[in-house]
Amino acid sequence: MKLIFLGPPGAGKGTQALGVGSRLNVPHISTGNMLRAAVRNETPMGLAAKKYMDAGKLVPDEVLIEMVRERLSMADCRKGYLLDGFPRTVEQAEALEEIAPPDCVVNITVPDEKLLERLTGRRVCTKCSGTFHISKLTDERICPVCGWTLMHREDDQPVTIRERLRVYHEQTAPLIGYYEGKGKLRTVDGDCKPEDVLESILSALE
Ligand code: AMP
Repeated sequence: MKLIFLGPPGAGKGTQALGVGSRLNVPHISTGNMLRAAVRNETPMGLAAKKYMDAGKLVPDEVLIEMVRERLSMADCRKGYLLDGFPRTVEQAEALEEIAPPDCVVNITVPDEKLLERLTGRRVCTKCSGTFHISKLTDERICPVCGWTLMHREDDQPVTIRERLRVYHEQTAPLIGYYEGKGKLRTVDGDCKPEDVLESILSALE
């Protein structure tokens, strides 16, 4: 199964991908996580990407397309993939059609005002990639799942969040129509409890 999770930042793509990827037995590929690892490791690509990420802008298409092309050529992607955060532009979607076109695209919707609240309170585990809201944590610094350190992403600050949402509406939302036109889009309401969203995704995939 080749699957894409589409949706604005904070829609729950990463959280849902952790559960769905293991159920479908396909690798969860988050381009945001790959870029953050490159930034941490100070690779030339990471250093070049950082200024875009910190500003809430998209990293140039050619960088992402090559990164994803390489990742999808790895052995574990022979059984499929679950892409989270890619494609984010029509140019990326067209490149993916040539590399390995998706079977299905799940569009997770959440209203903008909820996204802002979710992202400002979001903490992410640097080890297991678990995502938590501060309202549910007893200690904002410790991952309740694996005990590792939680971080507040630099791009989860209000000014940058607003820019990421603007970029989403301008450059990524057109992909909804793009995949609808191909008959591959399934839309799921992401504005409810994570377990309910998971259920809606699994039934949309049946
Ligand atoms: P995410 O973790 O998916 O929210 O991604 C964090 C940041 O990484 C984004 O705000 C972009 O700067 C960059 N990024 C991730 N995926 C892509 C992509 N497909 N195209 C361009 N930039 C991306």
